[in-house]
Amino acid sequence: MSQSALPQIPRREIFGVPVAILSKSEALDIIVDGLRNSRPINVAFANANLLLKARRDPLLRRQLDGMLVLNDGIGVDIALRVLYGERFPENLNGTDLTPELLKRLPNRTPVFLYGSRPAVVSRAAEILRQKYQSEICGVCDGYCDNPDVAVDAIKRAHAKVVLVALGNPKQEHWMSEKVSACGVLALGVGGYLDVETGRVNRPPRWLQKAKCEWLFRITQEPSRLWRRYTIEVLYFLAAVAFDRVKISSPWGSLRREL
Ligand code: UDP
Repeated sequence: MSQSALPQIPRREIFGVPVAILSKSEALDIIVDGLRNSRPINVAFANANLLLKARRDPLLRRQLDGMLVLNDGIGVDIALRVLYGERFPENLNGTDLTPELLKRLPNRTPVFLYGSRPAVVSRAAEILRQKYQSEICGVCDGYCDNPDVAVDAIKRAHAKVVLVALGNPKQEHWMSEKVSACGVLALGVGGYLDVETGRVNRPPRWLQKAKCEWLFRITQEPSRLWRRYTIEVLYFLAAVAFDRVKISSPWGSLRREL
């Protein structure tokens, strides 16, 4: 899908990835309108971790270029401030935005869940049906070796929306390579199904408001996340500072003009 499939929306490039500058309601309007007008889009939630991966991976950058990329977390906000002197209107992570979207979908929109562990995705289907009256038309866990199994199941279920919970960048690759074959709205939601089923807990509101959710997440999955929230955060900030210097140097401006 090319960016021309997306309406003209303000974006800023961070590490070569165009991140949209939108409030939550603007983002939801764009997503729902795309679905209503049969021009479904792929939605990615870019946290510092995904942007760092994109910085090193031209294929991922190209794939994200065709998606609606929303800002997830304090790291991306810092990057926007340092690089452009601007702020995002709101933090738009998948765990908060997805339930809002489910509530706003037209009645009986068929939603497919792809990804996470088998027990989690089945339980998530029950929970989403009860909590948001979602029409869950099928599920497929994220540990099958053949990604086409999910594509076939999505087509058979006549899904219109797919929540893709494979972690990044696997979910962004899958959405970019496979979803056009299905003609659906796809969102890369990471650990959202884990949160809905209670496999992973969210921190108290005050910690979320203080933008310190990452501190709590380390305590939940220390072996997987400690590196991401220590070494990689420092690396991310250093890369932002490096790009800032490059933009403001005469050499940087010259390169951008060429
Ligand atoms: N996951 C999956 N298949 C894989 C790897 C991961 O379905 O091959 C799922 C995993 O079970 C979890 C989610 O992807 O539900 C990981 O999401 P999270 O946001 O925690 O990871 P991140 O995107 O932050 O790396």
